[in-house]
This record gives sequence, structure tokens and C-alpha cells, in this order.
Amino acid sequence: MLIVTETMAKSLIGMPEAFDAVENVFSAMARGEARNFPVVREALGHADALYGFKSGFDASAPALGLKAGGYWPGNSDKGLTNHQSTVMLVDADTGQPTALVAGNYLTAARTAAASSVSIQHLARPDARVLGMLGAGFQSMFQMRAALRQRDFERVIGWNLHPEMLANLERTAAEEGVPFKAVSLDRLGAEADVIITITSSFEAMLKAEHVSPGTHIACMGTDTVGKQEVDPRLVAAARLFADEPAQAVQLGECQHAARAGLIAEHEITPIGAVINGDAIGRRDADEITLFDGTGVGLQDLAVACRAVELAGERGMARHVDLES
Ligand code: NAD
Repeated sequence: MLIVTETMAKSLIGMPEAFDAVENVFSAMARGEARNFPVVREALGHADALYGFKSGFDASAPALGLKAGGYWPGNSDKGLTNHQSTVMLVDADTGQPTALVAGNYLTAARTAAASSVSIQHLARPDARVLGMLGAGFQSMFQMRAALRQRDFERVIGWNLHPEMLANLERTAAEEGVPFKAVSLDRLGAEADVIITITSSFEAMLKAEHVSPGTHIACMGTDTVGKQEVDPRLVAAARLFADEPAQAVQLGECQHAARAGLIAEHEITPIGAVINGDAIGRRDADEITLFDGTGVGLQDLAVACRAVELAGERGMARHVDLES
């Protein structure tokens, strides 16, 4: 079995590698060659932690395995990341474990890749202003990945906790793009692409905030009860998702679906757009919304690529489980 550490994963998987892996697996999902298994997520009743598994099988790769991990809110006091995850890959022909891959950095990379795939396929080609709603750990990866997809001239941002906006300012400076903190009204009025990446439980972005032609990538809502966007805005947009069934269950679409404003069949899998089997944006005025709920196959895809590259570069550590 190969071991890929956090440090190795960071050096092996950049934004281009994550983008390709995630785009390919979304494509395989839409072709019916890859499927996610039901997600397990449980409150442990210990250390205030949530723990669970995301898994799936991509026959086209082939890639089989699971990501185990969760959220330990007390970790930051111990100098550790609150979100912890590890991917185990399994040989699809024998069931033997083939690799253990550190998943903290890869989770951020594959999540940023998902929104950037949506921007690539759904945003207007002339999008020039990137709007960030959220300024936590994930937001910095999101911004860097999005900036690769269009000739963005500036980034604007809003966050409930303004002191965190320094994260966006620093990231934009590192990317050589001007950044300005703005009101929600200005964010909606000026941004051509908006990424929402918070852990909010109530809608912040409203229909009246957003201009025609905007592409919105909703990335923060990955659990029942979380919410970033007004259901009326969701209902007014053309809808896309990594996995429509999961979007109406625990993604941003859950609230509009429960209110009867939308139905699952109205959400297009982004993979179908990638494959040319469904139309993406139809015109310059349409609001497109991608619900990136986060699927186990994304984790397996980036972990497989990391293992491949680690093998090619002689970096992975080997452990013989049989001995
Ligand atoms: P973080 O703790 O570093 O940052 C949290 C962000 O949410 C900050 O911007 C904070 O100001 C904001 N926030 C916190 N409470 C809020 C509230 N009540 N109302 C409005 N905003 C609030 O977290 P992170 O690691 O950046 O993750 C952000 C979100 O992304 C989380 O909800 C996480 O579960 C989700 N996530 C989704 C995926 C996916 O695949 N879709 C993957 C990883 C993380």
C-alpha cells in the first residue's frame, strides 16, 4: 500500500491537476460510468465531532475507495485543522487497499476545482468581476481556482465576519488582482461570477441582489439545514449540480425543493454539459447556478491522481500490509 502525506499531496496536485480530475469524474458520472454511494455522517457525541464516509466507484478509471473524516471544532485550539479527512483507495479487482492519501488539502483542492469547472462551462466568456461571499479556509482556494477560468480584472468580497476579509485581500494580492470589500448590494450588482463559500444556516444572497447574466457557484451548503442563497433566487436561475439528487437533499437546492419551487429533474448534471449532452448557458442574461454539494468521487479522483504522480516521481512511501 502507498502512503501519500499532506506535504506530498500539496506538491503533487495543483489547480490544473485538480481541475482535470474533477472535470473527468463529473463527465464519467453523467455517462453513468461512475456512481457515489450513500453518504454516512454521524454526530459522535464525543469531542463535539461529526464523522462520516463518502465513497463511490468510477468504473472508467477505475477508482474505488472512500474518504473518512469530519469536523472537530476543538482542533484549532490544538493547532490542528478542524476538518480532517483521509482517503483510502482500493483495488477494484481484488478489494485490497492500494493507498492511504492525506485528504485535508485535497478536499480544498477538489472543492475549488468543482466551482472552477462550473465557471469554465457556465460563466459568460466576458466575465471580469469575481465576487466572493465567504472568507474562511476554503475561500482562498476557491478564489485562486476561479481566477484561472476567466480574465478577471478584480475581486470583490463580503463576509458576515469582516475581520476574515483579510484572507481574501491577501490571496488576491498574491494573485496580482485588486480586491475590495463591498456591501452585499454591490457584490450582487457588480460581480459577473459569485462564489458562496460559508457555513451559514440562512440565506444571505437574495434575488434582488443579483444582476442578469451572473453565474453563481454555491459551494458552502453541503449539509441538511445549511443555506446561503434565497430559494427565490435558486428558483429564478438555470440550475446545475455535481449530483442533482444530492443537491435537493443536502445542497443549496434543498430549500427551494422543499418549498416546491423547483424539482430535481430541473437540475442539469454539470457532467452532461461537459459531455456536450446538455446545453449550458443559453444567453448573456441568464442567471446560472451551480450547486456544488461535494461528492466522494471527487475525492477519489484527486487522490488517484496524487497516487499516480507520487508513483511516477518516486515520492510515495510503501507499506506491506501482508507482512
Ligand atoms: P471556515 O470555518 O474556515 O469559514 C467559515 C466561513 O463561513 C467564513 O466566511 C465565516 O465568516 C462564515 N460563517 C460562519 N458562520 C456563519 C453564519 N452563521 N452566517 C454566515 N456566514 C458564516 O470554513 P471553510 O473550511 O471555509 O468552509 C466553508 C463552508 O464550505 C463550510 O460550510 C463547509 O462545510 C463547506 N465545504 C463544502 C464543500 C463542498 O464540497 N461543497 C467542501 C468543503 C467545505
